[in-house]
Amino acid sequence: MITDVVRRRAGELARGGRLPAFVYDLAALRAHAAGIREALAVPGGPELFYAAKANPDMPVLKALAPCLDGVEVASGGELAHVRRALPDVRLAFGGPGKTDAELRAALDQGVERLHVESPYELTRLAALGREADVLLRVNLAGERQGAALAMSGPFGMDPDAIEACLDLLAEAPHVRLRGVHAHPASGLDAPALLRQSEEILTWARPWLDKAGCEEPEYNLGGGMAVDYADPEHRFDWAGYARGLAGLREDGETLRIEPGRAVTAYAGWYVTEVLDVKRAHGDWYAVLRGGTMHLRTPAAKQHDQPFEVLPQDGDGPATGEPVTLVGQLCTPKDVFARRADAGRIAVGDVVAFALAGAYAWNISHHDFLMHPKPGFHYLGLRGDM
Ligand SMILES: *Cc1c(COP(=O)(O)O)cnc(C)c1O
Repeated sequence: MITDVVRRRAGELARGGRLPAFVYDLAALRAHAAGIREALAVPGGPELFYAAKANPDMPVLKALAPCLDGVEVASGGELAHVRRALPDVRLAFGGPGKTDAELRAALDQGVERLHVESPYELTRLAALGREADVLLRVNLAGERQGAALAMSGPFGMDPDAIEACLDLLAEAPHVRLRGVHAHPASGLDAPALLRQSEEILTWARPWLDKAGCEEPEYNLGGGMAVDYADPEHRFDWAGYARGLAGLREDGETLRIEPGRAVTAYAGWYVTEVLDVKRAHGDWYAVLRGGTMHLRTPAAKQHDQPFEVLPQDGDGPATGEPVTLVGQLCTPKDVFARRADAGRIAVGDVVAFALAGAYAWNISHHDFLMHPKPGFHYLGLRGDM
């Protein structure tokens, strides 16, 4: 599961005393993104926007760019950053709690589509008096069976609230209704996402027709599953694209905005074992760094998949199931519990996989003031 270039770099970093580090395989990322692009390229397939919040690193954005139709940003900070990285890329701007300053910045920066989250946000956008193209974000009630994260809460508008937008739009002809946006849940497989998309389209078509929206656009969100328990099991992009193409009607534009399933596979958090010990019957390997660098397993309450690269040290070791922890003084600083790691010893290198999305950028870096990890982007091209 670890690629050859990452394995080699991990060894070099260990020998140089330069762990922990995030190591990204950009060639693998380009190949993965090209595969997604190819799968989506069926007649009637959707446009592909990348949700920058999953991993906004410049080299990552630049590696992805040739395979994308656009990027979705969710804050003024992401907007400015992505514009710097990719000056000409098509942009969509979503997310709750957009300020007037962010709405203005979006229009100044040529954001193509604003995803409006509430009637009040629409009122404030209209009051700016600027031309704008919007998708209204809808949040249909319903069970999100199998979802890792259902986006209930303050996201989007339920069908009652969205009614109020019709009057607001009628009074603000400079704000053009282009369609509907929905991102109801994360962590779904292709059949579940397709059922969800069908539900959204079925609701939205008559509503947009009533609103007089011609050639409607449907942004169906992201949320394509990444299986942390089985990293080789991948989302069925081809089946999903065929299904979406089957749902699409003439004149409609479908668009998706995945994040996690695009970049998760291209990053590793590489570190080393500082101590191996037994406490109250359980074996622990204490690793340099911790979840202040890779918060994903603490945030999602899962075991982060990993590989041990043995270094043949003669310090403490175990062959028993072992819990991998970091250097933080909290019992929550756990990467994986009672994992079957084979033999693991002090000095061994541990490479955590699926660390390319929602990893460093969601972590509480300054907690305990340990050194920051290094960052290594393998396969950079000259244009960076
Ligand atoms: C987070 C988010 C995404 C991306 O979700 P993934 O699970 O990373 O694919 C897409 N759209 C919206 C509105 C989001 O909030």
